[in-house]
Amino acid sequence: MSGNITFTMIKPKAMENGHMGDILAKIIEGGFKVKAMKLTRLTKEEAKVFYAVHKERPFYDGLTDFMSSGPIVAAVLEKENAVQAYRDYIGATNPAEAAEGTIRALYGTNIEANAVHGSDSDENAQIEAGFFFSKRDWV
Ligand code: GDP
Repeated sequence: MSGNITFTMIKPKAMENGHMGDILAKIIEGGFKVKAMKLTRLTKEEAKVFYAVHKERPFYDGLTDFMSSGPIVAAVLEKENAVQAYRDYIGATNPAEAAEGTIRALYGTNIEANAVHGSDSDENAQIEAGFFFSKRDWV
């Protein structure tokens, strides 16, 4: 059964490029309800834990450097079938391949600095939301 919660981050490059407001507006316009949100930043160590699933990948060190390089927005979003709906809405990992009008196509810079994160499963959405928020913040 699919859940109604997903987790997102607006990544440092999109923040630096001034896209925070536009991305939040786009998320809301897409019918996602913001259940919890904070402007924060990750340390390198925290980024390594968050992306631990990718630790064997060649881009792990660069990705965790990037994700700890500046402020991010972390948020818990609610919508029916939220994980898949949000992944469809943000587009492919590589902004160059993301469908027109998706968040990554509109605001992404490259495959690493691809504007936003979106959870890939209901289980990971809960884990990732719990990384930044207390459950009472969104339940
Ligand atoms: P996602 O679920 O679409 O975010 O993609 P993945 O879970 O496969 O990768 C996690 C994040 O790692 C992506 O959002 C990118 O920021 C980064 N990433 C993925 N693939 C590559 C790559 O080939 N090169 C680099 N530099 N970063 C990548």
